[in-house]
Amino acid sequence: MSGQVLDRVAHLPAGVSEDPGGFDLTAPDGTHYRVDLATGVLDPHNDLLANAVQGRRAVVFVSPTVDRLHGDRLRAYLSARTRPGQWTLHVVPTGEHHKTLAAVEHVCALAKADGLDRHGVMVAVGGGIVADVVGFAASIYARGIRYIKVNTTLVGQVDVGVGVKTGVNALQTKNMFGAYHPAHASLNDPAFLSTLPHREIRCGLAEIVKMAVILDADLFAALERHPDAFRRSGGGRPDHSHGELETYILRTSMRLMMEELCPNLQEHELARLVDFGHTFSPVVETAGGHRLEHGEAVAVDMALSAHLARLLGLADEDTCERVVRLLRRIGLPVFDPGTCTPELMTQALRASWQRRGRKLHLVVPTDIGKAAFVEELADVPEDVLRTALRALAADGERRDA
Ligand code: NAD
Repeated sequence: MSGQVLDRVAHLPAGVSEDPGGFDLTAPDGTHYRVDLATGVLDPHNDLLANAVQGRRAVVFVSPTVDRLHGDRLRAYLSARTRPGQWTLHVVPTGEHHKTLAAVEHVCALAKADGLDRHGVMVAVGGGIVADVVGFAASIYARGIRYIKVNTTLVGQVDVGVGVKTGVNALQTKNMFGAYHPAHASLNDPAFLSTLPHREIRCGLAEIVKMAVILDADLFAALERHPDAFRRSGGGRPDHSHGELETYILRTSMRLMMEELCPNLQEHELARLVDFGHTFSPVVETAGGHRLEHGEAVAVDMALSAHLARLLGLADEDTCERVVRLLRRIGLPVFDPGTCTPELMTQALRASWQRRGRKLHLVVPTDIGKAAFVEELADVPEDVLRTALRALAADGERRDA
């Protein structure tokens, strides 16, 4: 990781502090970064992006959809707030199939052709894929340069935007290559979410449900009352109460995630509660040829983990039922017939065990707002896994009243 990018503020106590404009994180090793949560990021009067660029040469990368929807405002902002010739902009493909080393090399090649040196900055404007690819490119370009994330999806804001991970898929494995590379700035404007398709909103809600299940029963109850949060017909502005609710959900989820990440920013500790939903899901995603999106695969994994918790006697029926019901009411899948086979799910358990230092560290809910780890492969007997998958298949077919 580049020392240039890490902002070490030794005098701040370790932890996460919150203010009206966002969050500051100081890790125990002194790594410090800020995550802004603010509206009007592309308003030429808004200083956040211009201050983050700090007069440096900037190469901006944006996904095609975000370019179509927000590209004009982005260009107008850059023209208004930077010197002529200070920035260039490239549209780069998105989609899991483009989250590759080749994409990283392409980003680096475009930056080099634009004359970006190690004092320059890369800017990623888009969802998690653009952020992961550009972030990884920035971590290796000239041995590490600054990058800025402008996160335009719900997953981007509650998950990618608050952490320090970058990476690409390789060797048939999700996020096989990557780096821990904190962004110089992470700008999160909820107004971007108003153009986001419902499927993408649901994927973000899956990550929010994850945080609620493991840490916050109140957040879970709020989602139960409003499973349609962030979705509004006709793309109109939310009414005031809805806006407040969404701000509460967004803020709470971002803060919980940062508090969980803070003591373990570089994942030296491999048992992580935030890996709830991330044991089976990599195989659901890759073996399914990325038919399901990341958040959808996470939902399937959470439902399976809830059933395992029930069958292993770690959670009661009601907890399992509430987790699965909420996911279904949000419109998320809880079963994927193509990949939820005993063989593939056993393979997923073994792959996680391998990745996590020969411990399973499977996160399961024990109550709403509480979770525990199942540590050994032998703790998930084959017949229990098969029974859980059968229950899940039945859940997948059920229609809620
Ligand atoms: P994505 O980046 O594929 O974006 C989804 C789609 O929405 C894209 O087509 C994009 O162009 C479009 N889009 C983006 N913003 C939009 C807007 N405001 N309006 C309309 N359309 C918009 O998907 P994602 O869910 O943002 O990210 C998923 C990726 O993030 C996965 O690859 C996952 O592995 C990764 N991820 C990384 C981390 C991390 O810590 N680095 C954490 C979670 C997920």
